[in-house]
Amino acid sequence: MLKRLTIGLFLSTSFLMAHPCLAQQTPWALHGTVVANGGPQDKWISFQHGKITAISTEKPGAAKTFLELDGYIYPGLIDTHNHVHYNTIPQWKGSDYANRYHWQNDPEYLEKVDYPFARQVDNRLVSDSILYGEVRSVIGGATMIQSNYHEAAPKQLIRNLDFDEYHTEAYTGPIGKISDEDAKKLGDHLGKETARLFFHIAEGKKDDTTTQSEFEILGKKGFFKDGVVVIHGIALGPADFKVMKEKHMFLVWSPRSNMRLYGETSDVPAAVDAGVTVALSPDWTVTGSSNMLDELRFAYGYLTKRYPGKFTPQNMFDMVTKNAALVAGVDKELGAIEVGMDADFLTTKKLTFVDKKTKLDQTYEPYDNLLKVAPSDVRLVFVKGRPIYGEPALMSKYAVHSTPIKIGAVEKQIAIDCEDGSNSIDYGQLESRLKSVLPQLAPVYEP
Ligand SMILES: [Zn+2]
Repeated sequence: MLKRLTIGLFLSTSFLMAHPCLAQQTPWALHGTVVANGGPQDKWISFQHGKITAISTEKPGAAKTFLELDGYIYPGLIDTHNHVHYNTIPQWKGSDYANRYHWQNDPEYLEKVDYPFARQVDNRLVSDSILYGEVRSVIGGATMIQSNYHEAAPKQLIRNLDFDEYHTEAYTGPIGKISDEDAKKLGDHLGKETARLFFHIAEGKKDDTTTQSEFEILGKKGFFKDGVVVIHGIALGPADFKVMKEKHMFLVWSPRSNMRLYGETSDVPAAVDAGVTVALSPDWTVTGSSNMLDELRFAYGYLTKRYPGKFTPQNMFDMVTKNAALVAGVDKELGAIEVGMDADFLTTKKLTFVDKKTKLDQTYEPYDNLLKVAPSDVRLVFVKGRPIYGEPALMSKYAVHSTPIKIGAVEKQIAIDCEDGSNSIDYGQLESRLKSVLPQLAPVYEP
């Protein structure tokens, strides 16, 4: 999707501040079933200064804080395509559009989405709306998100891919209308190994001529290049994906929003067959999923129905962890649980099911489990080693400061602050400020 305030070029590094909070500083050790390379194993993860220092079977002696969890420990999920500042607006059903330029002028879209959004901008609530969007995301396990907003520098909750410390730029406008000057600026950004450039390309029906034309235009503008990320690419076929593979380009897939707006989505099997790295993301909550866990469930349901047996639950896990880290240019630090990498974790309950043959309770394997869990099943989420969302008993014991948040009928706690308790934000007050301008504020979770 594309929004009225972010049309055209924006260089996020020019505007956003660095993350104001430090990583957790003292040595911790976290125990659970670690989902890492080589399969799940019960391990202790030691971390300090936001980095994993050891992974061991034995309980480490050096830690100051020990936390034993009955659950799975996954890497934090990475959302490579979102528009966080819009995620205060309730779900909009959309319709059967030809392409993204079509619905942007639909009076119903303007009334239901664009005008409420403008109201929050006029009332200087963009910073709060970004924070609220991040809350909606972290309850579904994301520890990094692409926000696509060029001004606000809110008190941050999770990692923002648009910040200086990451080397990404994004162009959300129509590629056919990019100016030579903007194209040059963006082209100059590429070159570094971790530099990434995100374009919204070919978002619409496969037989729509505008949708069909955009990938070719991207090439003509000089962007068939290492580090270029195509978001959507709905009209792309095997020959296009071959080009993307040869040029070391990446694909971000947002199926739920695509299906709602166009009734079609990207040919992910063809992209995978061509060897293109594919990441999965919700796009925004207005027509996409409420969070990454829900998008995973939707995507797996879509793929298994149409391509039975081709994609495994582990493939889906990869699309939101290691693939997403590659797409974001952060695979040296995020997307896996290894010594030296960042201490971002999603920990969840181990859900069970009744085995039809034995009639006994069985625990889901970790990748199946990830496709079943909801925000209410999340035990704790860690960013830079700090617990920032989770079960009240754990948050009140392990987070410096946290406030209540209700996910449906379930009580959780969220910590919007730094490890030392500074920059603390009360979640209830954040919600009240937004509701004063947007009485129809989207619920924090919309399954
Ligand atoms: Zn988008």
